[in-house]
Amino acid sequence: MAIIENAFRISLYALRRYAVVHGGRGIVVRCGEETALVDLTPDMLTVKSAGKIWSVPIVTYEPKTGLVKGLMIKPCAHDVREKNCTTLYLAAGKLQCRKCAGLIHSSNSGHEKQRIEAKRCKLLQRLGLNPWETPARRPARMWRSTYLAILNELAGLAR
Ligand SMILES: [Zn+2]
Repeated sequence: MAIIENAFRISLYALRRYAVVHGGRGIVVRCGEETALVDLTPDMLTVKSAGKIWSVPIVTYEPKTGLVKGLMIKPCAHDVREKNCTTLYLAAGKLQCRKCAGLIHSSNSGHEKQRIEAKRCKLLQRLGLNPWETPARRPARMWRSTYLAILNELAGLAR
């Protein structure tokens, strides 16, 4: 099985963040030697890669937090309860969901310790700390909820 971290991911939220700054037309997404050309509008994601083209509708909903969120409607329909997602993958010449692409998280495939350590370092860096320091204070300009989420995640990794 392929590892999800190495997969060619088309992430709606990452693309949206990029589009805010650079615009949603002709976004080039790369993964190794492969390239995809992405057009993003509020209700459609179009992906062109290796001579193929996929158009994925985006639905929006408003959760209780009040922020409007977007989800892509999967090109597949193997599970009605999971018909929407935020990330699709270019695998085997198709734009697919994680399940259809047969991707697994590396935590399920060994190298678990390394992955956890890398994650821990990354989270600590977001708090402006070195990996050997203990998070004490919330960095300026970080949301309290983000800070708590990071602390929670760190506590989970330490277990
Ligand atoms: Zn699928």
